[in-house]
Amino acid sequence: MVERCECLIVGGGPAGSALAFLLAQRGLRVVLADHGRAHHSGPLETLLAPAHRLLRRSGLLELVLPHAAVDPLRHGAIWGRDAIEWRPDAEPGLLLHRGAFDTALRSALIAAGVDVRCPARAERLADGGVRLTMPDRREVLRPRHVVVATGRARPPWPCQRELLQAGPQTTALTWVGEPDPADRGTAVVEAVPTGWIWTHAPAAGPASAAVLLDADATCEHGAKTALQAALAAARGPAARMQQARLAHATNATARLHRTMGEELLLGDAASCIDPLASQGVEKALAAADHAAAVIATAVARPAWWPRLRSAHAHWEAGLFFGHAAATTQWYAREERFTETVFWQRRRTVAVPRGEAVGWDTLLVRSPALVLQQVLVRQGDVFVEADGVCDPATGEELAQVGYVSVRPLLDLFRAPGSLRTALAAAGGDARLHVLSPHAIHTGLRALLARGWLIAAASAPGSR
Ligand SMILES: Cc1cc2nc3c(=O)[nH]c(=O)nc-3n(C[C@H](O)[C@H](O)[C@H](O)COP(=O)(O)OP(=O)(O)OC[C@H]3O[C@@H](n4cnc5c(N)ncnc54)[C@H](O)[C@@H]3O)c2cc1C
Repeated sequence: MVERCECLIVGGGPAGSALAFLLAQRGLRVVLADHGRAHHSGPLETLLAPAHRLLRRSGLLELVLPHAAVDPLRHGAIWGRDAIEWRPDAEPGLLLHRGAFDTALRSALIAAGVDVRCPARAERLADGGVRLTMPDRREVLRPRHVVVATGRARPPWPCQRELLQAGPQTTALTWVGEPDPADRGTAVVEAVPTGWIWTHAPAAGPASAAVLLDADATCEHGAKTALQAALAAARGPAARMQQARLAHATNATARLHRTMGEELLLGDAASCIDPLASQGVEKALAAADHAAAVIATAVARPAWWPRLRSAHAHWEAGLFFGHAAATTQWYAREERFTETVFWQRRRTVAVPRGEAVGWDTLLVRSPALVLQQVLVRQGDVFVEADGVCDPATGEELAQVGYVSVRPLLDLFRAPGSLRTALAAAGGDARLHVLSPHAIHTGLRALLARGWLIAAASAPGSR
């Protein structure tokens, strides 16, 4: 029998499960298929306290909170100096036992009305349908939309995914053992010459240390030798673990993908951020919140699907580059090991295009831009508003931050500099209430996109 559904989600980690929950709450028929062989980076992950705001706003609180414990660990860092620095007692985040957490989320989905298939293998059929193979049966679905949320794993069937950007090749080795009793109740991040180590030592049970190394080092010397070298240089809890064993290895390279197919990529399947951010799960939940608005709008306005899919891909890319800039700054704070390959490859600040433009360089609006109605998120759906589209990338934008894009670009209808534009903004009724800082940030965002170009290079300037 062929079943119809509004959305098939392949992959039931935090991203896929959260999206399924939000869509089911909006009354859509959703099927979630997971192959049941998740390969978690480690047994414990943390969700930082600021994620609470997102959970509350998106309605995901009731899905996530019952299955996560308040993080009881004391957090510290040995970073940029030899001594440990304990983070001041702030609002605690959540501690996730990832395997159990993901399984509990999927069970909660059934109560929310989602059809969960686990374990299930998904294959795309030539006629556009998707066949799900379960241990006891097969089923063919004809979903209106397919979301691929398969994490860092290779996506199914294969989905035509293209790598757009990658950070330095990184391997995460998970080391599990008995912590020193004095280290119990702590989570410590520690820089060593060949990488960094993140150790969780709960009050009871084994400790786990994620050891992040340059992939070249693990290829050249072998994972165990590279791991031992990192641990030998450590001073924190990882160095004191007993009876420890290598549990597994994960490719932890920061990567940004896009799909050439009709599916929507979600969570790590779209973009993996550097684990140093400790925000992969938060990003996955935020992505689900954004994608729920995309799918809900597409069900009501099918013709908008290509633009909505593109809006989501640009949203994922924006977050990826934001995280890349933040982690690069964090790596640059470690100045003890500047000679080693690991730190040299990670401390170069990613300068967005156009950042080098000076205050008095003459600029104009790129003639390629098209002023048109663009899609903007309004609550749970997308609507059209005045904005700008870049035909080269398909990006549609009405605002950068809370500044409207059109009046910003209008400042450069004739050649002008950042300095003259800031002065002129004060006389523009649409901009004058905004702070110069907000306008300057907005202009830098347009420069980074190549939407403002040097007047000397504009067509017809000679
Ligand atoms: C070393 C390391 C440490 C990290 N620590 C943290 C941390 O402390 N805090 C944090 O927030 N983030 C952390 N992260 C990041 C976090 O693990 C991910 O960002 C997050 O799990 C992404 O969620 P997701 O749902 O996109 O993917 P995943 O969690 O990977 O889920 C993917 C799901 O898809 C399923 N699947 C895969 N392939 C298929 C297929 N072909 N068919 C069907 N199903 C499939 C899997 O079974 C799995 O359930 C860390 C990452 C690494 C590498």
